[in-house]
Amino acid sequence: MSPYRGPGVLADPDELLRMRIRAEHDVFAVRQRGREVAAVVGLDRQDQVRVATALSEVGRLMLMGTGGATVIFDLVDDGAPALRVRAEATDPSGADLDDLASLMAPVARLVDELTLQTPPDPVRVVILRRFPPGMRRLPRGRVAEIRAALESRAPAGPLDELAAQNEQLLATLEQVQQQRDELLRLNGELEETNRGVMALYGQLSSELEETNRGVVALYAELDERSAQLREASEAKTRFLANASHELRAPVTSIIGLARLLGTGDGPLTPDQAEQIELIDNSATDLLRVVNDLLDLAKAESGRIEPQWEKVALAEVFAQLRAVISGLGQRPDVDLVVDDPVGVPPLLTDPVLLTQVLRNLVTNALKFTEHGAVRLSATCRDGDRVTVSVQDTGIGIPEDQQQRIFEEFYQVPGARPVGQPGARGTGLGLPYARRLALLLGGDLRVRSRVGQGSTFTVELPLRTGSRQGVR
Ligand code: ADP
Repeated sequence: MSPYRGPGVLADPDELLRMRIRAEHDVFAVRQRGREVAAVVGLDRQDQVRVATALSEVGRLMLMGTGGATVIFDLVDDGAPALRVRAEATDPSGADLDDLASLMAPVARLVDELTLQTPPDPVRVVILRRFPPGMRRLPRGRVAEIRAALESRAPAGPLDELAAQNEQLLATLEQVQQQRDELLRLNGELEETNRGVMALYGQLSSELEETNRGVVALYAELDERSAQLREASEAKTRFLANASHELRAPVTSIIGLARLLGTGDGPLTPDQAEQIELIDNSATDLLRVVNDLLDLAKAESGRIEPQWEKVALAEVFAQLRAVISGLGQRPDVDLVVDDPVGVPPLLTDPVLLTQVLRNLVTNALKFTEHGAVRLSATCRDGDRVTVSVQDTGIGIPEDQQQRIFEEFYQVPGARPVGQPGARGTGLGLPYARRLALLLGGDLRVRSRVGQGSTFTVELPLRTGSRQGVR
C-alpha cells in the first residue's frame, strides 16, 4: 500500500479519497465522507449507513488504540466490484491488537468483509462492501470525476453529521417498524393458512380412514361371499353328480322295460303301443339329461383329467365330419370343413376337443334352416389356435349371448329346425365351455339374430397346462 502523501496526493487511479484521523472530530468527518463516497459510487441508502457506521466505529477504535489512522477509499474488483476502505494505524507500537480485534468484531456485521492486518504487515483495518449483483464497476474516467467532486466538497461539522446521523436513524427506525408490521401481517397470514391446511389435513385423513375402514369391511364381505359361493357351487356339483348317478340306473331300467314291453309276445292295442313308445322316448330324453348332468358335474368337480398329446387338427376335423354325416344331414344345409392349413399340431386332449366341437357343430346344424355350417381353424400370434364353428342360422339375441352358457338355459322361442320334438337339455354349452377351460382355452360366441352365429374355441398351441376350473 502506498504511504500517506498528504491530501490530494493519490497513489492509485482507482483511489477516491484519503483522510486522516487525528482527533475526535476527524471521526465525524470520516463517517460523513464514508456515507458520501458510498452514495456517489452508487450504493443504496442502507449500504451508505452501514459503511458510514462501520467507518465511524473503526475510526473511533483506531483513534483510541493506535493514535489515529490514515483512511483510504478506493474501488476494487476481484471478480465482484466493491468499495474498499483501508484504515492504516498511525502508531501501532503500544496497541493491544487482540483487544482491537475483539472490539472490531461486531462492526464486521455491517459490511461484507472486515480484516485486521497485523505485523509483519502494516497494522490496518480493511473494509469491503460489495456492489449489489448486476451493478458494474465504475469506469476510470468517472472515478476521476468523483474524486474531484469529493475533494472540492467542504467537510461538514460534527453537528451537521449528528443531524444527518439522527435523520438516518429515524429513517432506519421507520423502515424497521414497517418491516416488523409486514412480518406480523405475514405471520398472521401464515398462521391462518397453517390452520386451514391442518383442518383440511385432518378432514382428509379422517375421510381416508373412513374409506379404508369401508374398503376393509367390503373385502371381508367379499371374501365371505366368495367362500359361500364356492361352497354353494360345490354343493350343487355334488348334488348334480349324486342325483344323476342315482337316476341313471332306474331310468335305464325303465327304457329296458319299455322296450321289452314293446317287443313282447302279448298283443298290444295301438293305444298301448303308442303309450309304451312315449315312455321309451321320455325315458331316453331323461337319460340324455342325466348323462349330460353327470358329464357337467364331473367337469365342474375337476375330476376330468385331460390326456395331453400332440394332435393334428386335420384328424379331429375328419373324425368330426364322419360322426356328423352319420347323424344324417338336411339337404339345404352344407357342412363345410376347411382344411386347417398352416395350423401346426397342438398339445391337447383330442377326445375332449372332439366333444366340444361336436357339441358346437350339432348346435349349429340344429339352429340353421338353410345355408352352411363351416368348421375352420387358424393359428394366431404363433401360440394360439382358434377353431370356429360358423353358421347361417337363426342367431342369438345380444342379451342372451352370455346366458346360453348357464346350465339349462335355452333361448326362449328358439326351436331346433326340423326337429319339433327335440328340445335339448340346455347343458351342452356350459359343458363345452368347461372342457375348453380344462384344455387351457376358452369358448366365446358372436351372433346376430337372423344372420347366424360363430362359436370360437381358443386354445393354446403348446401349453397343455390346465386352467383352474371356474
Ligand atoms: P341345447 O342345445 O341342448 O338347448 P346348449 O347349451 O347347447 O343346449 O344351448 C343352449 C341354447 O343356446 C340353445 O337352446 C339355443 O337356444 C342356443 N344356441 C346354441 N347354439 C346355437 C346356435 N348355433 N344358433 C342359435 N342358437 C344357439
